[in-house]
Parts: sequence; C-alpha cells; structure tokens
Amino acid sequence: MPHVTRVENPRWLNSLSRYSNPGRVVNVCFFIVLLFSTLLTWREVAVLEDAYISSQRNTLENVAHELNNQLQVNIDRLTFYRNGMQAALATPLAFDGLQNAESQFQQKREQHQWSISLNNQRMLPVYGVSDTFVEETTLLSRDYPLLNNELSATLEVGYLLHLSTTLRRTTQQMLYVSRAGFYITSNALDRSNDVVEQYYSLVTSPWFVEQSQHSNPGRAMRWLSWMADTPNGDMRRVALALPVDYQHYWYGVLAIEFSLQQMKQLLTVATQGEEDGEFRLYDKKMNLLASSMTNNGTTPSPLSAQEKAQLAQAFEQDTRGGLRFTTRYVNWEKMRNFDGVLVRIHHLDEGVRGDFGTISVALGLVWTLFTSMLIVSWVVIRRMVRNMSTLQASLQWQAWHDGLTRLYNRSTLFDLAGEAAKQCEEQGRPLSVIQLDLDFFKSINDRFGHQAGDRVLNHVAGMIGSQIRQEDLAGRVGGEEFCIVLPGATWVDACAMAERIRARINNREILIGKSATLRISASLGVSSSDDKGLYDIEYLQSIADNRLYLAKQKGRNRVCCQDEDSQ
Ligand code: GH3
Ligand code: MG
Ligand code: MG
Repeated sequence: MPHVTRVENPRWLNSLSRYSNPGRVVNVCFFIVLLFSTLLTWREVAVLEDAYISSQRNTLENVAHELNNQLQVNIDRLTFYRNGMQAALATPLAFDGLQNAESQFQQKREQHQWSISLNNQRMLPVYGVSDTFVEETTLLSRDYPLLNNELSATLEVGYLLHLSTTLRRTTQQMLYVSRAGFYITSNALDRSNDVVEQYYSLVTSPWFVEQSQHSNPGRAMRWLSWMADTPNGDMRRVALALPVDYQHYWYGVLAIEFSLQQMKQLLTVATQGEEDGEFRLYDKKMNLLASSMTNNGTTPSPLSAQEKAQLAQAFEQDTRGGLRFTTRYVNWEKMRNFDGVLVRIHHLDEGVRGDFGTISVALGLVWTLFTSMLIVSWVVIRRMVRNMSTLQASLQWQAWHDGLTRLYNRSTLFDLAGEAAKQCEEQGRPLSVIQLDLDFFKSINDRFGHQAGDRVLNHVAGMIGSQIRQEDLAGRVGGEEFCIVLPGATWVDACAMAERIRARINNREILIGKSATLRISASLGVSSSDDKGLYDIEYLQSIADNRLYLAKQKGRNRVCCQDEDSQ
C-alpha cells in the first residue's frame, strides 16, 4: 500500500472546517427557524388564550351585571319598606281606621289566632297569634310601648305591598313578620293554612332567627338559602331579609322570599342573548340555586366533588377568576347584590365551534404545515450539503494528490515541505531531502508497454510509502521522479533511508503480465540542512537533484550523498 497518511487536510484547514461545517450550519439555521416559528406560534396561542379568557369574563360580567340590577330592585324595595316602617313607627298616620285596628287588636290578642282586615280590596290583612304563644317563645315579645305604632305601620306597609303587587304583578313573596306575634304577606303562603303554624314556620326560618341583635350586630340586609319544610316536601328557598329596628329595639323582619323557580326566572332574564355556555347561580355554600341549561330541557351536568372543592377554594381567595377543567373552562364572579357566585361553564366543543376555536385550529394547521415544509426542506438541503461536501473532499484530494501513485503532487509536496522546513528551522531540528529517479524507465515502457510502466510507478510509490515515517512527506515530482522530505532526519539518517529504499526497489521482482517479472533500479540523491546549513526547500531539492544525476553518471542504482568535489 502506498503511503497515505499525509492525505489528511492540514491542521489549519481542519480547525477551520470544524467551525464552518456546512452540515452543522444548516442544522443550526433550521433549528433556529423552527424554534422561532414555534415560539411565535406559542406567543400567538397565549395572546389568543388571553383574548378568550377576557371575552369569557366580559360575557360573565354582562350577565352578572344584569342579575345584580334585578336583585338591586328587590334590595331597593326592601329598604324603601323598612324606611316606611321606621317613619310610621315614629309618627303613625292618625286615621280612624288605623285606630280602629288597634282596638280590634286589643280585643283579639288573647285569641289562639286572629286577623285584622280594614279593607281587603286595598290592604293586606294582618294575621296574628295569641299573647300566650308570644310569651312562650324567647325571641318574641309584645311588651313594648310602640306596639300600637308597629301595628299601624304594618297596616301601612300592607297597603303599599298590596299596591305594588297589584301594579307590578310580582311573584316574589314579600313579608313583614313582627316579634309581637303578627305578620303580613303579599302572597298566600304555601306552608300551611293555619295562621299559628304559618307564624311558627316564619319565626323559625333562618332569615328571621338570624336577624337578632346577637346574630346580625351590623343590622345589614342578608341573603339566606335554606331547605324549607313545605307540604310538598323539603324545598330550597332563597330569602333577602332586613331587620326593622327603631330606637335600638328590634321590631321584626321584612323579607322577600324566592322559590328556586323564581331565581331561575331572574337568571333566564339576565342571560337573554347569551347562547353559549351554561350559567349557574350558587349560594355561598355552593348549593346550586339556578342553572340556565334547564331552559331547553337539558339537565345541567354536575361538577365533580373535586371540581366543586377547587371552585369553593377559588371563591374564598378572589372575587372573580377562571379555572380550566379537562374539557371545560369555568369562569366565576361573586355577585355584588347577592351572597353567592355566578358561574359560567364553557365546554371545549363550544369553544372549538366559536371564533377563538376556529382561529386556534387555523393557527395549529399553519404551524403544522410550516413545520412539515421546514423538515422536508431540511432533509433535502442536508442531503445536498452532504453530497457537496463529498464532492468537495474528492476534488480537494484530487487537487493535492497524484492519481496514479496516490502520493502528493509536486505543488502540494513543496507547499507542505516549505511549512515543515520553517518549523524545523524554528525548532532547530534538521531537515533532509531525497530525490529519486528510476533507471532506464523509458525502456520499460518501450518493452512492456505504458500500462506496465504505470504499474511499476505504483509499485515504487508503495515501497517508498512503506519505508518512510508518519512525519515524512513523499510526492511524485516528475514522470518517474519522486521526492521525499524527512523533517527531523539528519544527513546520515537520510542517506541510510535512501540506501534502504534503493536496496528494496532493486531487490524485489515486479510481476508484469501473467508470468513475466522485472527487476528495476533507481538512483537517489540526498541533501540535508545539517550538511548545507540552509532550510530553503527548493535549494535542498536542487542539491539532491544534482546528486541524483551524479549517481546516474556513476552508473545508476546507487545513492549519492555528496557533491562531486567532496567525494
Ligand atoms: P535514465 O536512467 O537516464 O533516467 O533513463 P530513463 O529512460 O528513465 O529517462 P528518460 O527521461 O529518458 O525517460 C523517462 C520516461 O518516463 C519517458 C516517459 O515515457 C516515461 N514516463 C513519464 N511519465 C510516465 C507515466 O506516467 N507513465 C509511464 N508509463 N511512463 C512515463
Ligand atoms: Mg529515469
Ligand atoms: Mg527522469
């Protein structure tokens, strides 16, 4: 095998190509484009998500606003009646009818149950229980000086309630329940037909009990939701209640009771025009009061216990927010005019059908398309770059080497030898040159043909390659002329190596054709920097060349290490 070690690129070229490896550059460029396109898409998705969340919040805020407005009407009404009662407690109207009612009360107060009705067409009747009933219950009392004022105030409110229910046809139940054992109600109560039972159920309902000075020290309006015991079974009810106090004494409670059906009506009115998603109204203990879904016959899908717990925790921490469950986005907002939370549940399939879903799907498709095209072009360009690199390496090898012997060609050899000479000079090491020419080569061509001559050249190149060291450089510098550069070798080392090469060439028979063999010889000239004291490679090569021709003159097949004069 010919010597091929020096086929490697020079070191500077290797280090340069390591950094500018085209394959690596292509990989890095594509990776950067992919990274940026993905980041950009990600950013778009984040913006889209923010827009979706704020649109959800807006929708919920609109519905909450509508619902709050409706509830505000009830709050205003209750405040109006409370102010009316307080004014009447301070200064009752001096009508004969009202004074007549007071005397009726004095007559009837001992009775088990009673009612006072001044004019059923214009006023609500006052229903009451006996002194004994009132005395037996700690929360109740008839022993205070403004009792008569309270009775006439109740009748006045009864007049207003009758008027407002007739005009507005409101379905909610408005009540005034006095601690002195009587009450008025705008609608007939569904609890019982018995006045005592009705009064008992009213004064034991949470919205009444929780208005004592102890339970409601701030005397504020309160929302309550509880399970009421009705003839039709237990039914959840919602009430807005306001204690009526005058001169630091608690007289009774004004309340508006809502059935769940009525709460649902309020929600239905508030959600008009909102077709997407489901709205739910929960009380503060997470009891479902109303859902917009039951409108069109579908039953609301219950939230799992875990989802409910997560929501309840979120309600405690903030007044509004959103939570993403597996296939649902849940948006919630605490009500301003109600002690509860309005929740909107938006399902994934509704989201996909909507504008945001369409844009998201389009964005995903664009990203997938772009990424696939990028990957395809990456594969193609990578392949092209690989082919070009292979081609470049092959061209480079051809430019540096002699195709027949696979040794360096003349120009490459002298380039590399020049560098080696510079290094040796810097390091103070010797450098030697051997010049080799085959003897009577023309006659080989003439006798055996040009192809046989080529084979001989190849054979000799292999022999030279097998004799030199890793560091040495060998090249074909002419037709059948070779040059060997030996960095670090002294003149004596070089002469010894030249002799070894000569002997090896001359000792081996070369197979030419099927059975013919041939023995050849070569003449060699040697020069060295420690001989001439110079490192100029062209000068050393010319000295070696002179000595080679000296060897020719002396009869060929020999090594000449000195000039004629010094021999
Ligand atoms: P001398 O001993 O004086 O060197 O005699 P010579 O015949 O070797 O020298 P000469 O310079 O007269 O002949 C060299 C020959 O080498 C001439 C040419 O035909 C032959 N030659 C040059 N290059 C190639 C090549 O690539 N292939 C072959 N087969 N022959 C070549
Ligand atoms: Mg020759
Ligand atoms: Mg020659």
